Amino acid sequence: MIGFFGGSFDPVHYGHLKTACAVKKELGLTQLFLMPCKTSVHKNTLQFSHQQRLEMLNLAIAEFDDLQLDSREIDRQNASYTINTLKQIKVDYPDRKIFFIMGEDSFNTLDTWKNYQQLSNYAQLVVLPRLSEAKGLTSCMEVYFAKTPLVNISSTQIRSKIRNQENLSGLLPENIIKYIKKL
Ligand code: ATP
Repeated sequence: MIGFFGGSFDPVHYGHLKTACAVKKELGLTQLFLMPCKTSVHKNTLQFSHQQRLEMLNLAIAEFDDLQLDSREIDRQNASYTINTLKQIKVDYPDRKIFFIMGEDSFNTLDTWKNYQQLSNYAQLVVLPRLSEAKGLTSCMEVYFAKTPLVNISSTQIRSKIRNQENLSGLLPENIIKYIKKL
């Protein structure tokens, strides 16, 4: 059983990393891949470049042995819809049960995703609790709601702190904070 946790990771933070480790354990996954998107369909601009987001994710997985990186979306020529990525993953791992993991806020916008009703043909959807309450789609989607702890950290909060030159300790790994300071 393998999991893929998609996102922009602009930058990656403990909200992603701690909940990813917790959900890996909860589901008994053998591998969990963080999978950065090329550009987010739902966000106009990203602060960090593809290369920088990948470098920060590599620093993160160096510290979090439980996690791995799948850079297929960011390596592609063009941005890819999740449905197409999941189809490709299914071809790559024909014998494995596949989980696609997202936070509750992403789940709440799922009806804006391309062919979202078909996502569960390719992967078991898993939703991590965040701050908002899951709404809407639960009745028509087969979804697993994880019981991972709430971690109140977002990339938006970190980008704002960077702009204001505020302390980032405790929000993301120290090696990534050092990396950001050198940019
Ligand atoms: P931003 O603040 O820029 O919107 P973000 O912190 O939500 O970014 P993303 O990279 O957009 O981070 O998130 C990738 C995935 O991780 C999304 O499905 C999101 O819901 C989930 N996620 C992000 N932060 C957390 C968190 N603290 N707890 C649980 N899930 C999270």
